[in-house]
Amino acid sequence: MSAARKLTCLDCGQVNRVPADRLDAGPKCGTCGAALMPGKPIEVDPKILDKAARTDDVPLVADFWAPWCGPCRMMAPEFSKAAGALKGRARLVKLNTQDFPQAGASHGIRGIPTMVGWAGGRERARQSGAMRAPEIEAWIGRLG
Ligand code: ZN
Repeated sequence: MSAARKLTCLDCGQVNRVPADRLDAGPKCGTCGAALMPGKPIEVDPKILDKAARTDDVPLVADFWAPWCGPCRMMAPEFSKAAGALKGRARLVKLNTQDFPQAGASHGIRGIPTMVGWAGGRERARQSGAMRAPEIEAWIGRLG
């Protein structure tokens, strides 16, 4: 018995249902074929982010960042490492607040980088300031 987990495709926004024991088996979107558990951070637009945050059963973490932000650029490889380590357990995405300033405002982002974590359709935690991969993994591990 394996309950299905809802996962919003980060590419096309389609909601997929994936058996829990298939999350680490490279599931793909039934509509567009994109990897649902890519194991690396995906750049998303605010519409997909909000849908995934509301819908997904698997923990979702967004890094609000901008290209001009030095600490954001420093954290990027650490965030990527954490995404690889957490493949099949959590999804990590990035939202560029320079391209989408409204999204930063609507999520109440005051400084970047800020990570926001959702699980079960609710925001569970947020964290400002750059962190290293092991700290990011530990932080995400506590989202439930
Ligand atoms: Zn898709």
